[in-house]
Amino acid sequence: MVVKLFVGSLLIVLAGCNASKNPLRKEVKLLQKGVIKDDTSYVYALPYEEGKTFRVIQGYFSPFTHKERAALDFNMKRGTKVLAAREGVVVRVKEDGTRGGLKSKYRSHGNNIVIQHPDGSRAGYWHLQHNGALVNVGDSVKKGQTIALSGKTGYAMVPHLHFLVWTSKNGNWQQIATRFQTSKGIKYLKGWKKYQNKTIN
Ligand SMILES: [Zn+2]
Repeated sequence: MVVKLFVGSLLIVLAGCNASKNPLRKEVKLLQKGVIKDDTSYVYALPYEEGKTFRVIQGYFSPFTHKERAALDFNMKRGTKVLAAREGVVVRVKEDGTRGGLKSKYRSHGNNIVIQHPDGSRAGYWHLQHNGALVNVGDSVKKGQTIALSGKTGYAMVPHLHFLVWTSKNGNWQQIATRFQTSKGIKYLKGWKKYQNKTIN
């Protein structure tokens, strides 16, 4: 418990600083500030139920475990319904992992689902509960469909959902920041903020 509190406060302290030299990091900052105006990128749904609010405990390129990752960690207790942020075909399911924690030996236990979108990009949903996948490889899933139950398997300090999107650019897979529909409009999410999944008509 003491360790948890310590690491938790460390995260808060580090949330504002960034160590990554990845050029995408700068682009993400500009996108978050709305400086890049002609943004025609896809608008993702938050990967949880309508009306629910969760906090992003690690944003893009944060220095804890996302140093070189354009990934988001949503703080959620085990067994929370995880919804597809975008439609596609399930290309990977792992749900046999049972262990989780901050030890590298737990990395291989990280249960996950990968969905390929119509434009060829892919989204990953990580740290799912043991036997927590509700879809199979080859299934077509709709945006907003419940695909899994969250957990804490793999390399994870607390139960959460690690979400990331990557796309092929010139033959190389590259992680990208994505924007989401939130109760306060379309946003690039930031670390330590809470976001409610609410459709605005
Ligand atoms: Zn993460």
